[in-house]
Amino acid sequence: MINIPKGTKDVLPEQSYKWRFIEDSAREVARTFNLSEIRTPTFEYTELFKRGVGETTDVVNKEMYTFEDKGGRSITLKPEGTAGAARMFVENGLASRPMPLKTYYITPAFRYERPQAGRLREFHQFGIEVFGSQSYETDAEVIFAASAFLDKLGVKTKLEINSIGCPICRAEYNKALKNYFEPKLESMCETCRTRYVQNPLRMLDCKEEGCRKINADAPKITDYLCEECREHFTGVKSLLSAQGLEYTVNPRIVRGLDYYSKTVFEFVSDEIGAQGTVCGGGRYDGLVEQLGGAHVPAIGFAAGIERLMLLMENTGAKFPEEQKPRIYIAGMDKETRAEAFKIAVGLRLKGISAEIDHMNRSVKAQFKYADKLGAEYVAVIGENELKSGVINIKNMKNGEQQAVKTDELYAYLK
Ligand code: ATP
Ligand code: MG
Repeated sequence: MINIPKGTKDVLPEQSYKWRFIEDSAREVARTFNLSEIRTPTFEYTELFKRGVGETTDVVNKEMYTFEDKGGRSITLKPEGTAGAARMFVENGLASRPMPLKTYYITPAFRYERPQAGRLREFHQFGIEVFGSQSYETDAEVIFAASAFLDKLGVKTKLEINSIGCPICRAEYNKALKNYFEPKLESMCETCRTRYVQNPLRMLDCKEEGCRKINADAPKITDYLCEECREHFTGVKSLLSAQGLEYTVNPRIVRGLDYYSKTVFEFVSDEIGAQGTVCGGGRYDGLVEQLGGAHVPAIGFAAGIERLMLLMENTGAKFPEEQKPRIYIAGMDKETRAEAFKIAVGLRLKGISAEIDHMNRSVKAQFKYADKLGAEYVAVIGENELKSGVINIKNMKNGEQQAVKTDELYAYLK
């Protein structure tokens, strides 16, 4: 037997309605926030992620599924959705559209990680990207969209926000960080020592126990923000507070990708173990330009669908009912089975879900099967029913029976 690749998952028939619920909720939020769906390829040229996501990130350094195709090009399976969305924006000249351009996607993403609860090699994201606005209203709107989505799923999370400033104030802050870390480098992990040289901000993201302890007393970015960044951050916070959306400012949030600036945020749960971030996002004002476009500010988020599923299951959140046939129609011999078939197909073509036997079961076994399927009604076609054109349909919940003409069955079930 050939097994499923490590870090991937099947969605079994009885699980897919949960997926659909999460995806439908995402689309419903997208509709009310007036976001249009975009779809980008599952793979891109590797260069896009190197340039877009950043060479100093774990995603690019360690986690990408990269291969050479038969034409000798370096290809990478998308590890996230933002870089592809930004490429699409630049390549199609979308900057000429009325701004902001508000988009969303639901996409698989691929990262070569150590699989564990909430961490897979193929996972799925619902993401939003809004291009073209630098106002803090947009940051707040995107955060509210994430919050509305999580509300719809009925999950409780904590919102943590931060500002990581712009390249100007971050330069100052990086200096302060370097001063702080320099005498402590000896006792920090190897990754942190590399990051110290390449991108000290990323040291704050380290998960190593020893490094975390040292990080706790590091200078805070919020003390180094320039006036513009500070005002922007104040604006975001005031709009969140005005609507009663609770948050905490967590100066440790830097996010895993290099393109972020100003506002960054995470929705976190402590109900699903170490991988508690169900949604992460932020502003990326430099990315479009970095990919060869004009200076177009942007902000977005991505929520991990598998982690949300885990959170919903762990906290007993409600999913809508699994799909069940409205009616099961049983036949007993060649002729009556043919009639059952005909009635079922007729109902289906009119939009009513109906089921019949495919396995040559006895009528008794068909009743059992219909019950297992959760059919709402069951009808048996026999000699009499064939002749009279009237069938008895049984309500499986309360046992009540009702005689209905076959040609009125649709009207009855509708
Ligand atoms: P983490 O710190 O958990 O690795 P990240 O910063 O790498 O997260 P992002 O790149 O911001 O995550 O991705 C957005 C969301 O996608 C995460 O908040 C999470 O819900 C989900 N996600 C990221 N990586 C994985 C993965 N390997 N498996 C499942 N979900 C993931
Ligand atoms: Mg990660």
